[in-house]
Amino acid sequence: MQFLNRDFYNSNNILGYINSSIQALINMNTVILSRKEYMLFFYIKEDFTANYFSLYTADIDLECLGFSVLQRNTRHSIEAFLDLVNLSHDSDYLSVMEHCADRNKQYNSKYHSILRGSCNIPKKYKIATQMYNENIPRDLLTISSKTNNYTHPNVFVDILNYNDYDKKLEILRNLLSANLYTLTSAYKLILKIFNNNMTPILTCPTCPFPNPYFKNCSQCFLNEEARFQNLIKNALITYTNPFQNPYYQ
Ligand SMILES: [Zn+2]
Repeated sequence: MQFLNRDFYNSNNILGYINSSIQALINMNTVILSRKEYMLFFYIKEDFTANYFSLYTADIDLECLGFSVLQRNTRHSIEAFLDLVNLSHDSDYLSVMEHCADRNKQYNSKYHSILRGSCNIPKKYKIATQMYNENIPRDLLTISSKTNNYTHPNVFVDILNYNDYDKKLEILRNLLSANLYTLTSAYKLILKIFNNNMTPILTCPTCPFPNPYFKNCSQCFLNEEARFQNLIKNALITYTNPFQNPYYQ
């Protein structure tokens, strides 16, 4: 039996930190709630949360499809992240998102040289990196194209056996890293758009700045991010079963 390391579910973690930080931002400025950028951030956060909790009870030994829930949500999260990046550069990008939602609506002609009548994740990536010179890892595009196989209940994906440990852990690491990247980058973008790039001050339980006059929670964010990254890289799983299944022991 293999489960995700229980340290991922400590009461202090990156998801809890970001939730509190965004809540502090909203308390200062409730207008954020009505903005499209916030809706995109919320999608990304929900995808992350769903992935995170779907792994809570999952016995990785029994996984055979390659974490299909994570695959679907990660694809969704990457698309929302690219939309957020592009929208943060230019409000005209909203016309691209409208076109994706309703093909009868026209997108702004400035996007035609890339879109040429159709819209997909690689084209949104191209807008971000070529039109807006954003530096987004190409790995993100590679992961999103691999997740394409999981948008439908595809029975032609490679089946993973009980013993394919390395393969499973590699898939899991890549998916979790992509989710951490979209969540933390989207969080940073929200701070940039709505708070002049400043991190709200929180009462973090692990804050290295106890003096309120010298508090700087951007360091608390970096610490939580690094901790999650380290778990993905060095302590992904546990062999201890955190549950007892009454039907099978
Ligand atoms: Zn702090």
